Amino acid sequence: MSTEKATAIVLRVVEFSETSSVVTLFTREFGKIRALAKGARRPKGPFESALDLLGLCRIVFLRKSSDALDLLTEAKLERRFRPPGGELSNLYAAYYVAELLNELTDDYDSHPELFDAADETLANLRSSSAVAPVLLRFELTALRVLGHLPSLETCAECGKTVELVGRVPFSQSAGGVLCKSCRAGQRQIISLSAAALALMVRFSRPAAGSPAADSDHRAYGELRAVLNHYWSHLLGRPPRMQRYLGTGST
Ligand SMILES: [Zn+2]
Repeated sequence: MSTEKATAIVLRVVEFSETSSVVTLFTREFGKIRALAKGARRPKGPFESALDLLGLCRIVFLRKSSDALDLLTEAKLERRFRPPGGELSNLYAAYYVAELLNELTDDYDSHPELFDAADETLANLRSSSAVAPVLLRFELTALRVLGHLPSLETCAECGKTVELVGRVPFSQSAGGVLCKSCRAGQRQIISLSAAALALMVRFSRPAAGSPAADSDHRAYGELRAVLNHYWSHLLGRPPRMQRYLGTGST
């Protein structure tokens, strides 16, 4: 058993007993961890209000060596998540980010770049009204960091450069865009607009700050539909929060 310190985003808080909770945390240092927070449900418990869903905290925990839950010993809230003006679309988007982090990552598999992207995404969702670009960039970053990014500029079958003009054939099972010759014989192809693909390319590249809002709302909607499909395929079912995301046109 060792004592560890970490920066964490609170993904889930589940009642464990009358006074305790089990928390799922996405940490920058260790990836996802699950820990018992004794006394967390007492009004003046040791964590006070630090274990706030989607909040960012500094934590200290005892890492258990076996299958047992880790034990949270300290948590200090650094930033609470509150959507601007109680905006529901920002709140749902933030829950969606937490769900993806929880579903896509394994315990003790750290991805500092994904953590930073999530942290920045939540910060943007606290202030930004443009939910679609903030969320889409997070999703494309998550796909890239976790090794699931489809091939966007070269043919997924033969590696030839595919020109992104007009409408471009895209196959999830092949793993991305297809050139004209590889398109033949492929089933379950969708055709994506060059604008939606260009957005995918842009959002998948490392970038800091709030993503510039685009006026092309149709491309957002198209990309939303593609990603909904993509996540459902990857997870084996649609993410629970997916239906609250709307069409992505705002
Ligand atoms: Zn090809």
